[in-house]
Amino acid sequence: MPILPRRFKRLQDVLNSRMGNLTVLLEKVDKPHNLSAIIRTCDAIGIVEAHTICSSKKGLTFNSTAQGSQKWVGLTNHTSINDAIKELKNRGFKLFGTTLESNSSNYLDCDFTGPTAFVLGAEKWGLSNEAKNAMDSNIYIPMQGMVQSLNVSVAAATLLFEALRQRKVAGLVPKSGEGISPHLYRKLIFEWAYPEVAIWCQNEGREYPNLSLQGEILEDLPRSLKLKC
Ligand code: SAM
Repeated sequence: MPILPRRFKRLQDVLNSRMGNLTVLLEKVDKPHNLSAIIRTCDAIGIVEAHTICSSKKGLTFNSTAQGSQKWVGLTNHTSINDAIKELKNRGFKLFGTTLESNSSNYLDCDFTGPTAFVLGAEKWGLSNEAKNAMDSNIYIPMQGMVQSLNVSVAAATLLFEALRQRKVAGLVPKSGEGISPHLYRKLIFEWAYPEVAIWCQNEGREYPNLSLQGEILEDLPRSLKLKC
């Protein structure tokens, strides 16, 4: 069954405003509730891919807080914080560590319109010294209550919405898919529209078929696969 044109249009609309140059790096933020809430915010903001360093043996797990947003936001788990930092820096991201230390800057005084990665730490420990020392800048969200810090998912949402606000003001929020490469756009729209066929293509080691403007697959596929669509 081909995808309904209305559904395909919705997928395109969402992908058209995705931003490849905004992300989060989560250092050992393993609690399913926190991880789920952050990925849901990433989807709401228009993030293509989030990054994690997972310390849990069970791996990364989501709960209902995610509301399925993990389907729409890619997740790359790195083996160490150093590897993650190196990769993001090589890709041109400016890394903003989040700590309440005295050398941090108020996030409202920072510019998040360029390639930006917010680096957030776990509930109990915060960011490791390794991470803090490798940041381009350390930032904090001012607090005026009795409790010293925010929940990590609330801190992530505060920073991501500030980045989105700044980009809106600067007219930098993509409207027609220009926030990601044409290759990635083609890959993601296919995977979003036809997840089962995408997995089949990956297993077969073949390219994804082309889609028509209405989202129909322009190739004859095995009958058993067509029935799954
Ligand atoms: N005891 C930890 C510490 O000293 O960092 C507190 C960790 S806090 C509960 C969990 C994470 O949320 C932090 O590592 C940071 O990423 C983020 N966070 C919480 N409150 C923040 C704030 N006011 N400014 C910036 N980041 C904050």
